[in-house]
Amino acid sequence: MAGSVHGWTEWIPLIDRATPSPTDSAPTIRRIYKRLYAHYGPQDWWPADSPFEVVVGAVLTQNTAWSNVVKAIAALKKARRLTVAGMRALGDDQLADLIRPAGTYRVKARRLRAVVDWLWAESGGDVRKALSGDLETVRRRLLAVHGVGPETADSILLYAGRHRSFVIDAYTRRVLRRHRLIDGDEPYESLREMMKGAIRLDLGVFGEYHALLVQVAKEHCRVRARCEGCPLDSLAHDDAL
Ligand code: SF4
Repeated sequence: MAGSVHGWTEWIPLIDRATPSPTDSAPTIRRIYKRLYAHYGPQDWWPADSPFEVVVGAVLTQNTAWSNVVKAIAALKKARRLTVAGMRALGDDQLADLIRPAGTYRVKARRLRAVVDWLWAESGGDVRKALSGDLETVRRRLLAVHGVGPETADSILLYAGRHRSFVIDAYTRRVLRRHRLIDGDEPYESLREMMKGAIRLDLGVFGEYHALLVQVAKEHCRVRARCEGCPLDSLAHDDAL
């Protein structure tokens, strides 16, 4: 695995010092984080060597396993095209061919092209600059780009732009639902606000929490839950949900 962009391990989680949230779920959300962090430790996400690699990975990981993304990123690196300028210089077929391992490669090539064009128009390809400024303003601009939905946008904003945005994915919904914090079909935006409100200010926690939920969901909270040995087993839950 490549090194993380941000070196999350250098950031000491401040969740114990977070201001109490007005929501009933906030204490449980914090408890879950503390249990997961104590069990798994820092996850050091996102696995990438540059903010642009985070952006590309966030688009390529849509509807596919991360192992396939790794292959596509490796192909882009080998071809020396994992830069905004390098990708812009590729023809559509060349780009699609390089990212073929990530699946639905023609669709994803169009999406990558749109994101790269956006980065170029915003900042001449400087990812951090394109993502700088007020979180919700940048998020709205990013969501207007072809192929960028809320989950992709929040991954980019959090891990490439260093914004306090929370990523809601299927793993997050599953763990929170089984721990009776949500029904599971709430709108994306309301879950994002709930998590943001509970976590409050610490950027390091935002990055670690999402990664820890992915870890526990892959190891224990699968389609069929394996609660025995799970770091959250002593918290109230219903594995049949
Ligand atoms: S596997 Fe069980 S204890 Fe672990 S997160 Fe899922 S429901 Fe909770």
